[in-house]
Amino acid sequence: MTDFTESTFTESEERQELRRQVAKLAKGYGRDWFVERARSGEKTTELWLEIAKAGYLGINIPEEYGGGGGGIGDVAAVCEELAAQGCPLLMMVVSPAICGTVIARYGTEEQKQQWLPGICDGTATMAFAITEPDAGTNSHNITTTARRDGDEWVLKGQKIYISGVDEAANVLVVARTEDARTGKLKPCLFVVPTDAAGFDYTAIPMEIVSPEKQFQVFIDDVRLPREALVGDEDGGLVQLFAGLNPERIMAASFSTGLARHAIAKASAYAKERTVFRAPIGSHQAIAHPLAMAHIENELARLMTQKASALVDAGDEMAAGEAANMAKYAAAEAAVHAVDAAVQTHGGNGITQEYGMAGLLVAARAGRIAPVSREMILNFVAMHSLGLPKSY
Ligand SMILES: Cc1cc2nc3c(=O)[nH]c(=O)nc-3n(C[C@H](O)[C@H](O)[C@H](O)COP(=O)(O)OP(=O)(O)OC[C@H]3O[C@@H](n4cnc5c(N)ncnc54)[C@H](O)[C@@H]3O)c2cc1C
Repeated sequence: MTDFTESTFTESEERQELRRQVAKLAKGYGRDWFVERARSGEKTTELWLEIAKAGYLGINIPEEYGGGGGGIGDVAAVCEELAAQGCPLLMMVVSPAICGTVIARYGTEEQKQQWLPGICDGTATMAFAITEPDAGTNSHNITTTARRDGDEWVLKGQKIYISGVDEAANVLVVARTEDARTGKLKPCLFVVPTDAAGFDYTAIPMEIVSPEKQFQVFIDDVRLPREALVGDEDGGLVQLFAGLNPERIMAASFSTGLARHAIAKASAYAKERTVFRAPIGSHQAIAHPLAMAHIENELARLMTQKASALVDAGDEMAAGEAANMAKYAAAEAAVHAVDAAVQTHGGNGITQEYGMAGLLVAARAGRIAPVSREMILNFVAMHSLGLPKSY
């Protein structure tokens, strides 16, 4: 007989407790603190180090390297709860989830010992750089190239929109090396210290209200030791793919958290604000968009949990479809939730005091990064529906 006490549609008590603890910690900081940091050009280092100290930052990394030995579902829960309290940390998507996963799975023993503890304790955050100005969405066209020079690698190229380079000790750079047999370029991953000679970066002025910034990165003949190449030179593509499902799941969690934050704020406001005889929340024109956003967001959360469960069960193929769908659904839910929240607030929705309009660009960015909604639709059309490849 089926044991319905272990339902796969609800999270374990342990995961729910993790959510409560993270929410409690993040509430001590809150949205006002986060926005104040963003507007004054300061960072969120205290929060970053506090979640690290509590064991939440590297909760998905194996225990022997300073992590919590949990899964992607755990670190996604941390990411979502931070965002739900108004403190969305983009570098959680990048450092423990993308870089941490790839290195934990494919790094050599020395590489794991060298880089994972710093990712977990927050002292050596790792950024991730794949996007290039000319290649854009088409990552197959990246031109950042690594050539061998004796015992060293020499890296040359450019990256764009790279998050958190100023806060990172290292960047996991996707480059290409020449295949000895075919002469063709193949993707490879390198860990590049941000203080390496020839590594330079400039901030891109963005409209997102966040202490975490995006950068253009210039890699000008950066010399790296042989051990900077992560894992196997011939397994670059497979190794890169290992980071993609975690990336999508974390991006989805970032969005569902933002949506929860906006819906909670708007619901509270709609209960209080009265301009005719009853609170504005009694008008269906205000209540229904919030209810619809909540439904959409709960569906997105469910798909995110499914994708996490599949990754943690080792079913990468099925996880790929679910992670893409979750990321798509979550970004849409966040966009609709924030839009409804702004509308609920009327003129106050556009003020800095109420902080709703400040969420618009962050929510909207979820439709573009780390993978655009169009590329997810391309993926689903092709892989789920069997339609011809359209690009
Ligand atoms: C806030 C933010 C943070 C980011 N952080 C990082 C980071 O840390 N590291 C990193 O490497 N990158 C990062 N990025 C980059 C991000 O991954 C890219 O912006 C994204 O992949 C889209 O690439 P692009 O901007 O070059 O758009 P383009 O490739 O120029 O695309 C423009 C538009 O055309 C559409 N399009 C292109 N090709 C097709 C097609 N075949 N079919 C349908 N539509 C198509 C796209 O969906 C998009 O809407 C970040 C971006 C943002 C906005």
